[in-house]
Amino acid sequence: MQKMEGLIADFPLIKKMADKEEVLWMNPDLSASDEGIRASGMTAADVKDASDRLKRFAPFFAEVFPETRTNNGLIESPLTEIPNMKRVLIDTSSIDFQGTLLIKQDNALPVSGSIKARGGFHEILKHAEGLAVDHDLLQEQRDYRQFSDQAFKELFASHKIAVGSTGNLGLSIGILSAVLGFEVTVHMSADAKRWKKELLRSKGVTVIEYEDDYSKAVEEGRREAEQDSKCHFVDDENSRDLFLGYAVAGERIAEQFADQDITIDAAHPLFVYLPCGVGGGPGGVAFGLKMAFGDAVHCYFAEPVSSPCMLLGMMTGLQEKISVQEIGLDNKTAADGLAVGRPSGFVGTVMKPLLEGIYTVKDRTLFGLLRKLADAESIYAEPSALAGMMGALHTAASGMNVANSADARHLVWSTGGGMVPDIVMNEYYEKGRNVELFPGKSTKSAE
Ligand SMILES: *Cc1c(COP(=O)(O)O)cnc(C)c1O
Repeated sequence: MQKMEGLIADFPLIKKMADKEEVLWMNPDLSASDEGIRASGMTAADVKDASDRLKRFAPFFAEVFPETRTNNGLIESPLTEIPNMKRVLIDTSSIDFQGTLLIKQDNALPVSGSIKARGGFHEILKHAEGLAVDHDLLQEQRDYRQFSDQAFKELFASHKIAVGSTGNLGLSIGILSAVLGFEVTVHMSADAKRWKKELLRSKGVTVIEYEDDYSKAVEEGRREAEQDSKCHFVDDENSRDLFLGYAVAGERIAEQFADQDITIDAAHPLFVYLPCGVGGGPGGVAFGLKMAFGDAVHCYFAEPVSSPCMLLGMMTGLQEKISVQEIGLDNKTAADGLAVGRPSGFVGTVMKPLLEGIYTVKDRTLFGLLRKLADAESIYAEPSALAGMMGALHTAASGMNVANSADARHLVWSTGGGMVPDIVMNEYYEKGRNVELFPGKSTKSAE
């Protein structure tokens, strides 16, 4: 209690966070991009290494997952403008913003339907490639379709993968590892959805359930793996390989902007809004974006009001040494993947000079936005994926002239939803009925 009072004295925003108000925090430590990248200790060569690896595995994906053939085995998602949704946001909020509103549809990423396909796949592929090299299995004259050979499957069958997850990371790690032939265990937190556990079990993945939250699931996974030298633990809180896999998104989206003749530079700044759980996904993507666009890109994280772990960790500087439970929050949210009470200290430290700000969103708002996006643009994303949607209103209303310029591009990173069963998506859609996004502000009558 005393600690809490001291914290509130130093950081008055914590009072509002503890009351579950929607807040916006601007990061006072934001620095020039090149300095921030240098401080991370990670380089363009590290991101290129991850990117090259994903290219090497593209023939394998095209072979094993036919839905990836249209993109030659690269796991990538559409980038599109959402003008109807922009109109809905302006009409319901009475906040005008002039720029273009775009969405990056990682909900439509092939194979695992969420942003976790970026980092999660990369880490598993790096591990598999390393084992193949160590066991002299890799034939250099052949492409990576050889990873579906029986000899590879037999090698991987004697190795294990473990991961702790609220759901989506488990799906992405589980699906790919099982296809490669690994023995996989996913440690799931209490909030993980039943359909995710069932889907994984149907693919031969071992799912262990905990009554506790995400941090506990990760801890148990880590403990199990430490006792077994043949078990690789995917460490969502600390993994560079996950982070670098996410970071490849930067060069990919730079290509998409170029293909669509959309310029990003100082006069045409890019504002990006990324839903944040433990931090690796949004942190890695933001890092890749900073590499691609430098100071022309402005990155924001979005968190549920019940789980603002990264905001709490970065603002106080305590990083992973503080949890949302310590300010009286319950870490209960309908936003799968964002129900994380304690952030990654690794990501918080890397993002310290690179992140522009963090804002929080109520679950109610997420469901309301989910329904509006479905109606306006026929895009179906899961609740967490909508956390980015309020971003443009925050930046436009903040009085920053660049954010409200007609030349600004506002990009909502839609992080998941592709694997949600129709019946569950319908429930989400129903929950969004009659949600007033901005009570009292609407200029148009509600639906
Ligand atoms: C995991 C996840 C996130 C956040 O990623 P972190 O690496 O946990 O911060 C956002 N949205 C969805 C749908 C996710 O599954």
